[in-house]
Amino acid sequence: MFNLKVYVLRLGHRPMRDKRITTHVALTARAFGASGFILAGIHDVNVVKSVEKVCSAWGSSGFKVISGVDPFKYIREWKDDGGLVVHLTMYGVHVDDVINELRALNCDLLVVVGAEKVPRIIYELADYNIAIGHQPHSEVAALAVFLDRLFEGRELHFIYPDAKIRIVPSKKGKVVIRHGQ
Ligand code: SAM
Repeated sequence: MFNLKVYVLRLGHRPMRDKRITTHVALTARAFGASGFILAGIHDVNVVKSVEKVCSAWGSSGFKVISGVDPFKYIREWKDDGGLVVHLTMYGVHVDDVINELRALNCDLLVVVGAEKVPRIIYELADYNIAIGHQPHSEVAALAVFLDRLFEGRELHFIYPDAKIRIVPSKKGKVVIRHGQ
């Protein structure tokens, strides 16, 4: 979708409690221009299947879904490969104060979002701790706003060439085109 590759790393997933919101983090990553989603710690087949089902119907453009990854190892390897790590947290610097600088660096980004309390070391490993405002809200909202600011809204116009389902925008009703189903 873009030259700049962005992957989203989801920490602290609790399978019973977070299945829906973690799936929404992954779907938001896909729909807002990221190239992949990584679920830390645990392999949750339900989340992976749900996201892959959406990718199969609505197009993936190579969107990757990985689960059961050691987050600390992944972050260190990402940095060793020259990528930057952004942690979204209300305690960070305001997105408006860093987004242009970050975009100008033109580096691949690993965007880390939490669920429950995020370990202190993540704040230290991150190259940028970024706040989407300084009020507590949600990882889904934080991720959507961050990606939209990063890609300056262009991601919302992306057309997935491998989509089997496409929407024809309509003022009223639902118009859908289906290919090869
Ligand atoms: N109490 C948790 C903590 O201290 O990390 C926050 C839990 S919050 C429900 C889950 C995730 O949403 C956070 O880890 C963070 O990634 C994201 N988040 C929530 N509010 C945010 C904000 N204002 N700016 C950036 N990210 C935010």
